[in-house]
Amino acid sequence: MKVFKFGGASVKDAAGVRNVAKVLSHFPDDDLLIVVSAMGKTTNALEAVVWGYCDGKDMSAHVEALRKSHFLVLAEAVPANTAVRAELILHFDKLQDLLRRPPSGNMDRDYDQIVSMGELWSSLILSAFLNEAGFANKWLDARKVVRTDDHFREAKVQWDALEDRSMVHMPSFEQGPMRLVTQGFIGSTEDGLTTTLGREGSDFSAAIFAYQMGAESVTIWKDVPGMFNADPKLFPDTKLLSHISYREAIELSYFGASVIHPRTLQPLQKKGIPLFVRSFNDVNAPGSTIDHRSENDSLIPSFIIKPGQVLLSITPRDLSFIVEENLSGIFAAFAQHGVRINLMQNSAVAFTVCVDNDNRVKPLVMELRREYEVRWNEGLELVTVRHYDDATLAKLTAGKEILIEQRSRNTARFVVR
Ligand code: ASP
Ligand code: MG
Repeated sequence: MKVFKFGGASVKDAAGVRNVAKVLSHFPDDDLLIVVSAMGKTTNALEAVVWGYCDGKDMSAHVEALRKSHFLVLAEAVPANTAVRAELILHFDKLQDLLRRPPSGNMDRDYDQIVSMGELWSSLILSAFLNEAGFANKWLDARKVVRTDDHFREAKVQWDALEDRSMVHMPSFEQGPMRLVTQGFIGSTEDGLTTTLGREGSDFSAAIFAYQMGAESVTIWKDVPGMFNADPKLFPDTKLLSHISYREAIELSYFGASVIHPRTLQPLQKKGIPLFVRSFNDVNAPGSTIDHRSENDSLIPSFIIKPGQVLLSITPRDLSFIVEENLSGIFAAFAQHGVRINLMQNSAVAFTVCVDNDNRVKPLVMELRREYEVRWNEGLELVTVRHYDDATLAKLTAGKEILIEQRSRNTARFVVR
């Protein structure tokens, strides 16, 4: 079995959905598990619904806009299919019902119940479209397979529970290849509550399914023809990395290369399942291959720019030293608030970290301020260069104010404004 993942950009409208079918037509005889993200910017829109809902605002206009855009794609892609139409109506009614009830008090839990719907909608539409187009498949509810803990919004996969779950819930196929269409990004707890795996988690979902089913490969179909040494949308003369090792790819994605979600590679590496990154606009292009072989790793400089960063500088109020005792409490607070540290540095009396500036940071800072002075510096970028050389570093930092600089043998990192 091959696992294919299609992201939100590939199914953003009816033309996108049709293009997915075109890609799949190159694989008429393969057993396929197709993992799909929410359409276009649906997840962002659903997040806005959650924030408004938890703020006590009326979000029905937002929901209406989502309903409209989904029914538009449905009407264009599968006009005659009344069953999926009815199902989608039920989904939107359920969402409206949920929003009429008061928030549970656990915002992350409410988030998962609401934001997960984007993937359910897109997968229903895609599955119906493919069936109508003669590409017979069955829709699979990922929540019946991907069991997680109840760490809502960042749920951890319970790998041991996966095995038995899949056996019970896999639909059977009497004839023809086994083709399943399922959702990325979502799972459920033992009690059946929906969870999400963290933003952009659909790649990781593809790896989870591949791991569990012992797939022969995973292919992530993107709007770029593979993994590059820099974001081709931001830089002119980028180079395709046609072959990289798991190790190198993990480093690149950890530092923010947005082509692959950082957690995707670990389960694949464990079972030696290769990952292909290919273009859904050019099925014949070779793309990038990621596997265990490291001898072909390219040593040309690769660079990654992560915008939207904030530097937090944490100092004990009495200017006592930052020692292990403080650090363990500080780290615990970061973990509890789900704030991931992108870079850190310490001096005698200050512990400085660079993190993504999202809405989890303020509550964390409020907690830290009970014990520490916390300085806040936002609007920054984190620049990472693997296999750096002087020319690349000079080019990337020209005209920028450097707030922090760190270098190891293979990697140079800068926090800049
Ligand atoms: N739809 C989710 C998100 O946008 C998951 C994904 O796209 O991978 O974060
Ligand atoms: Mg998405």
